Amino acid sequence: MEIAIIAHDGKKAEMVQFLNQHKEKLQEKKIDIISTGTTGGKVEKAGIEVTKMLSGPLGGDAQIAARVAEGKCNMVIFFRDPLEKHPHEPDVIMLMRLCDVHDVPLATNPATAELLVRAL
Ligand code: PGA
Repeated sequence: MEIAIIAHDGKKAEMVQFLNQHKEKLQEKKIDIISTGTTGGKVEKAGIEVTKMLSGPLGGDAQIAARVAEGKCNMVIFFRDPLEKHPHEPDVIMLMRLCDVHDVPLATNPATAELLVRAL
């Protein structure tokens, strides 16, 4: 199973904390984690293995969206920062749309992500 993780800048620390909390379960279930570039770099520093795509503003969200469309990515955890503007908002909307098109679970905040990870 492949899970994509993405966090806007204001939410990256929360993402690292979230993954640290669930590290053992993710390893035990042999989950492959993919991520946008900068989020992945931070997560790697915390000792969690991740396959990095491009940074979000350079197309990382679009790469993850393509994997969702191809049926390769089975869940998306995207800690969005609703208080900031993002130049790549169209890519973000595309990713969320494709999750809905393909019925792929999408968590956009830690509370929902917690519920999804518990269900693994
Ligand atoms: P980043 O991208 O992990 O490369 O910062 C996340 C995003 O803003 O979509």
